[in-house]
Amino acid sequence: MDLNQPPAELRAAYAELEPLGHRVVEVLAAHLANVETLRVSNTTRPADLEAQFVPIGRAPLAASAANDPEQPVLLAELERIIAAAQHVHHPRFIGHQVAAPLPIAALTALTNAVLNNSSAVFEMGPVGVVLERHVVRFMTDAIGWGAAAGGVLTHGGSIGNLTALLAMRQAQSQRQTAGMDPWRDGGDRFAVLASADSHYCIARAAQIMGWGSEGVARVQTDASGALDVADLERALLAARAQGRRVLGVAASACTTALGAFDDLEALADFCAKHALWLHVDAAHGGPFLLSDQTRDRLRGIERADSVVWDLHKMMLMPSLITGVLYKDGRHAAAALAQDASYLFKAGAEAEYDLGHSTLECTKPTIGVTAYLTLALHGTDFFGRYVERCVALAQQFAERVRAHRSFELAADPQGNIVCFRHVGSAQDAGNADALDALQEDLRARLVAEGHAYIVLATVRGARYLRTTIINPFTTTTDLAGLLMLLDDLARGA
Ligand SMILES: *Cc1c(COP(=O)(O)O)cnc(C)c1O
Repeated sequence: MDLNQPPAELRAAYAELEPLGHRVVEVLAAHLANVETLRVSNTTRPADLEAQFVPIGRAPLAASAANDPEQPVLLAELERIIAAAQHVHHPRFIGHQVAAPLPIAALTALTNAVLNNSSAVFEMGPVGVVLERHVVRFMTDAIGWGAAAGGVLTHGGSIGNLTALLAMRQAQSQRQTAGMDPWRDGGDRFAVLASADSHYCIARAAQIMGWGSEGVARVQTDASGALDVADLERALLAARAQGRRVLGVAASACTTALGAFDDLEALADFCAKHALWLHVDAAHGGPFLLSDQTRDRLRGIERADSVVWDLHKMMLMPSLITGVLYKDGRHAAAALAQDASYLFKAGAEAEYDLGHSTLECTKPTIGVTAYLTLALHGTDFFGRYVERCVALAQQFAERVRAHRSFELAADPQGNIVCFRHVGSAQDAGNADALDALQEDLRARLVAEGHAYIVLATVRGARYLRTTIINPFTTTTDLAGLLMLLDDLARGA
């Protein structure tokens, strides 16, 4: 074995970047050019899809007999993978909150994968760290916070909410009881107030922290689906009566299922009155800050202590990039008050070691992706995109309201619209039949491959749910969706 030079097979593997890279981009571009002609989603049964791919072998995967012998195996496999994927760029992919990523964002993600710097420690990824700080500054400025604000990027709203609630636990328990340090001493009698419609990751975070299923003290929702401010006082007292130390409120901006925005001004007043921490889960709605037409949905957000904001939902970036943001940036490191002397510096430049403030140790340079995508397009571009999504959703809601066969679950406040088919005359008032009808309509719509929407439960009833997040969706697509659903219901 010659240890004085890399082996031929490794050199050959690394030499593939240029020839394969060009062709992969061609395959992806052709896919996007064609996407509208495809079935929106893949409804192959899981086990059948699994069987379409051979187990990983000790020897390289060989080209199948069906392949063009000139075509590299990678391209043949990518073609199969693309064909089996969900097509998020399809104009009628309007179900979940998934972005159709901008090419700049996708190409910078590729660059990150090639350079493979890590942005938890400055020395391991200096440019990733400083660009991440620029992104965090853009977000904290958009919230309306001052120079003391700070934060980090992390991998998704779920991890982001856990991180922010760790900061809340640390800061707030010390504020309430001098000398208490849950990071050091543990403790499980804490609770956070949140509405019944808050994202499940809030409850999961409380349970990860050991607070159990009562760790989220539930507040009722009002008719709009937002946290019912009138129920806060009761929920606080009830949790305290159970022996809970209530640390704060986790607001939703907006809720995932229905898209309802909690009243942040009222929640900030409540938190000020009771000396509680206000956390705002703006995973979906954070980008509404970027347009004067939609900013008012988040009125009061500048009074929050912490905010979570996803860039991979309403900001056209690939998964996962999330801001965990603090009005007082010092809370970022206090969230995870731990020492790792082999990694982190102390002193003036310590704040450049972002791993003080993130669950990740090795962390891809997601700041590079976010920085270049934001800077090259300019942030107004994203404000206009949000405006368009909301305008389309409002127009769609009008159409639902005007249609005899459909009804809205609630007036949409943003770009999420929940509605249902009212069924035939004999379904009227039969809740089970109506639920079954929505399930059936959705299953058949998706099986036909013309459109992709999802289901949500609102006030105990099943609704069809659309998220208007796709830049390619038009009025015609949404009008067509109603027609398709109505035709399916009539054919039933
Ligand atoms: C999507 C969402 C989350 C979860 O974020 P991920 O990035 O999917 O982990 C949390 N809260 C709200 C309100 C969301 O819409």
